[in-house]
Amino acid sequence: MSHKTYLNLIGGEHYPARSGKTFLNLNPADHSDVVGEFPASGSQDVDAAVAAAKKAFATWRLVPAPKRAEILYRTGQLLQERKEQYARDMTREMGKVLAETRGDVQEAIDEAFYVAGEGRRLFGKTTPSELQNKFAMSIRMPLGVVGMITPWNFPMAIPSWKLFPALVSGNTCVIKPAEDTPLSTFNLVQTMIDAGLPPGVVNIITGFGPDAGAPLVEHRDVRAISFTGSSEVGSIVAQRAAANFKPISLEMGGKNAQIVLDDANLDLALDGALWGAFGTTGQRCTATSRILLQKGIAKEFTERLVERAKKLRVGNGLDAAVEVGPQVNEQQIETSKKYVAIALAEGAELLTGGVPLSEGTHLNGTFFAPTVFGGVTPQMRIACEEVFGPVVSLIEFDTFEQAIQIANSIDYGLSTALYTKDVNRAFAAIRDLEAGITYINAPTIGAEVHLPFGGVKQTGNGHREGSEAIDFYTTWKAVYIDYSDKLQRAQIDNAE
Ligand code: NAD
Repeated sequence: MSHKTYLNLIGGEHYPARSGKTFLNLNPADHSDVVGEFPASGSQDVDAAVAAAKKAFATWRLVPAPKRAEILYRTGQLLQERKEQYARDMTREMGKVLAETRGDVQEAIDEAFYVAGEGRRLFGKTTPSELQNKFAMSIRMPLGVVGMITPWNFPMAIPSWKLFPALVSGNTCVIKPAEDTPLSTFNLVQTMIDAGLPPGVVNIITGFGPDAGAPLVEHRDVRAISFTGSSEVGSIVAQRAAANFKPISLEMGGKNAQIVLDDANLDLALDGALWGAFGTTGQRCTATSRILLQKGIAKEFTERLVERAKKLRVGNGLDAAVEVGPQVNEQQIETSKKYVAIALAEGAELLTGGVPLSEGTHLNGTFFAPTVFGGVTPQMRIACEEVFGPVVSLIEFDTFEQAIQIANSIDYGLSTALYTKDVNRAFAAIRDLEAGITYINAPTIGAEVHLPFGGVKQTGNGHREGSEAIDFYTTWKAVYIDYSDKLQRAQIDNAE
């Protein structure tokens, strides 16, 4: 079957990789379906893209921010028109079910409209000077060329969280999407071009991390790096960026806990657990991978969860009856298998799933059965390490204080959820859970674009996307305007 070939986008033109190498983007639900062929880029391609972005910066930074924002607003409108097609493309390239890929495109639409408003804000500050006849203010400035490295699980939403705030702030960008999902980045950027984005303002380089991502991180003309991916790769990228003092925003892994107290609405907590653990096939940074159950409801909750997990329909996400799509690739299947073996060796009890699905309609894809482990203790590796698959661990506890302690006992700190009707406990949990996000009576997934997004500990390095993204993509300039017509010396002339 013939497939479409895509080329890098550099300065508004399309180029193959200098090496001529390519890679195939396969549908994880059906490997005979080739979504496209993409350049396997290297450092020379990155050099060309950065040069194009640097050239474009000279003019883009001078476009008034409200005008830059209008392009983003039009992008949002065009994405609304193209939502269904882009959602289908995304399900083909990464597997999650159509309802979720529509949600992914919707998140980019929400981000476009939200950030477009920022074009008429980008507020600076004014403050009194300590001297007479002197005016003081601070203003936001763009950084220059920003490099972006993205994962495959939110193929349009995550690039939009990075590109839109960077662009409204006046930066130009080079983005290297994940090798499993480059098409959605092309769809997003093509929409921006159709909305009026000038050539070179956004450039796309496709390829593998060490070949195409690393040179971007190290490039002298790249002023900042925004990375979303695993903590393992994030650590490598951060160390390389640190060598030349490059600001870097890291959004990384999670091991998110849903706590269910005895007084919770169990039906609600069950719905939340299933959606949090098996939505996106468990491949969300915010996925529920630990469910902490208070002893009074643990038995009933476990039985009902397992019963419902067994009934989930796993298959091709384009099929409307399917609830759980494939894992994105064979490597993710291997990781799920590895953690099932680790959990069994640690003494956890496999309550359902635990195996890849490879018969019948699952023959040509990378499917894994929704998996639930019972009898998990907080120290087990299955309770501490990110699996990034449809695998969830059940941990029992006696008291609320124990639940908080268990929830906090891991190296990650992205999302947390508490199910209870006790308002006092809810507020105590909001205060005490070590995480960037806490939900009360809602699952660990479901972030909205206009709140801060990110985490603590090994999930991040202190930056936030969403409402706070502009802080990363701008730098401050202090401005003093002396209208006294004489030399005034700060800290000296006003001393007496
Ligand atoms: P990954 O770390 O394997 O890859 C992420 C990106 O880094 C890819 O584009 C990859 O090509 C690139 N890369 C790999 N090696 C590199 C190197 N040496 N130098 C530069 N770039 C390199 O992650 P993934 O498998 O694509 O995504 C899953 C991970 O992402 C999970 O850990 C998940 O929790 C995390 N994630 C976090 C968030 C968040 O906002 N916190 C959101 C989504 C996903």
